[in-house]
Amino acid sequence: MTSTLRARWVFPVDRAPIRDGVVTIDYGRITEVGKHTCSTAVEDLGEVALLPGFVNAHTHLEFSHLRNPLGQSGMPLVEWIRLVIAERGRTNTDPSASIQLGLRESLACGITTLGDIATSAWGGTRWPTPDRLAFLEVIGFSRARATSALAALIEKIDAATEPLLAAGASSTQNAISVLTGNAMGISPHAPYTVSPDLLNRLVEVASRRGMPLAMHVAESRDELALLECGGGPFRELLEERSMWDPDAIPPNSRSGDYLQRLAAASRSLVIHGNYLTCDELAFVGENRDRMTLVYCPRTHAYFGHDRYPLESAFHQGVRIALGTDSLASNPDLNLLAEMAQLSTTFPQVDPFDTLQMGTLAGAEALGCADAVGSISPGKLANLVAVPLPGGIAAEPKEVLQAVYASAYAHFRVWLRGREVDRVATRT
Ligand SMILES: [Zn+2]
Repeated sequence: MTSTLRARWVFPVDRAPIRDGVVTIDYGRITEVGKHTCSTAVEDLGEVALLPGFVNAHTHLEFSHLRNPLGQSGMPLVEWIRLVIAERGRTNTDPSASIQLGLRESLACGITTLGDIATSAWGGTRWPTPDRLAFLEVIGFSRARATSALAALIEKIDAATEPLLAAGASSTQNAISVLTGNAMGISPHAPYTVSPDLLNRLVEVASRRGMPLAMHVAESRDELALLECGGGPFRELLEERSMWDPDAIPPNSRSGDYLQRLAAASRSLVIHGNYLTCDELAFVGENRDRMTLVYCPRTHAYFGHDRYPLESAFHQGVRIALGTDSLASNPDLNLLAEMAQLSTTFPQVDPFDTLQMGTLAGAEALGCADAVGSISPGKLANLVAVPLPGGIAAEPKEVLQAVYASAYAHFRVWLRGREVDRVATRT
């Protein structure tokens, strides 16, 4: 079962790029990475860059049936959320069918691991499928809703955990590295839908059960206004939906208060963080062993937010992963297109850092860096081969720029050492 792939360039991510490199695979795992020597029998992939399978740290696959993003580019987030609520209200869409569609599209785009916010713990997928960590979404703004929201969550976790335990997992923690597809986390949706009281309780459940958290934080200025003075468009939305509770958020609250709560969990993903201050980013940086900031470049551009605080986050030592977010705010689930958008918006960012964000940092965020995220001996052979244009320069940084420019090329993808049939992922 041993095979060796040769590529013009291999980008292992956790070590220097290798020109004319080879990767040896045995029973689905990488056993060797190095330079090609004449004595090695290989499958020559030709003029390609061989990369680790991409890790999409944030998406909502339940919207994968959408053919176009909701609303228009540049619209206020709160108006877009009204459209999301209306979309969810339609009864003719089966969430599991949408998730299946999204998983297939993800795999065709070279995504082999993903963090998916979901309303149910549905995990029924057939090979081949990316490993999926499902963060169960929780919504409950008024304090009166907290108990019932928590009870509903526990019920979902227990229902989904039973088959996992029967399959031999000792707990839900870190199950992603040993199971195909069924790991779970908790997603307190956002500060404008989850009260601090409910968040505290969710952090407690997550800590007790060893589950990661993912929360949208500091996504818009309107969210900051709600926290600070209890007013603005989000209050109007909550009142409209009979969810408003004037005492749910203490006055003069800040995004940092939510970060403090999330830091109490063993692992948390801070989604977006578009308007985090320097001090708040510094806090995420200080807790980088347990917290990751997730940047979704094209969704950020869709809403026309202020410039993303990427430089500041780097400066503060924040671990940054990348996400596509959903097809409700993005035309596709292509993570390489996110890396391309990032390198266009921030040309000064080192292309190696961009690749690291789309692979290893995402794996660390999801707690499965022991198994995926880089081309290293012992890890799963999840690989992507991106074709390189002719006459490519010898400088690896330029090669990576060419890779980002090829975001929509035909990729070859390997999952656990087996090449995925592109046709099979599309039908
Ligand atoms: Zn999201």
